[in-house]
Amino acid sequence: MFAGKTTELIRRLEVHRQAGLRVVALRPVADTRYERAVIISHAGKRWNAVSVPDAAAIISAARGFDAVGIDEAHFFGAALTQVCRGLIGAGATVIVAGVERNHRGEPFEPFPELLCEADEVVKFSGPCAKCGRPAVHSQRMFANDAHIVVGGVGAYEARCRACFGLP
Ligand SMILES: [Zn+2]
Repeated sequence: MFAGKTTELIRRLEVHRQAGLRVVALRPVADTRYERAVIISHAGKRWNAVSVPDAAAIISAARGFDAVGIDEAHFFGAALTQVCRGLIGAGATVIVAGVERNHRGEPFEPFPELLCEADEVVKFSGPCAKCGRPAVHSQRMFANDAHIVVGGVGAYEARCRACFGLP
C-alpha cells in the first residue's frame, strides 16, 4: 500500500545481482493487478519475475538460484514458511515482501511464523489515507469478508490504527 515493500525487495535483489549471484523474483499468479512477468513498485520500478500458482511451485521455480525474492507473499498462505525453510536449507537467500495483517487487522498467513523465523524483519508504512499518520492497516473499501480478494485502484486504503475501521 505505497509503503515501499516492493521497492525494497527490488533493491535487495539488485544488490545480490550486482554481487554476481543468480537471482529470481517470484510472484503469485492470483495477483492479477499487474503483468505476470514482472514485479512493479508503486514508484514504477520494474523487475522481471516468474508467476507461480502456489507455494509448492516456488520450489522448482527457485531451483538453481542463489537469491529468491517473493512478492505479495500473503497470497501463498501458511505453506510458504516451510517452502522458505527448504530454500534456505538448500543455501539460498530468501527475501519476502507482503502484507502481514489481513483486512480485519488480524495476523495474515504466512507472516506470523515467517516473521518469527526471519533473520531480519523490516516493516514499512505508507501514509494513512485519512490523516497522513503512518499506516499499519489495509482497509478494505468494499463489503466482502473473504480472506483474499484482489482489489484494483481504490479497493484498499492504507490506514493508521486510529482511522482503521472508519468509513
Ligand atoms: Zn489515520
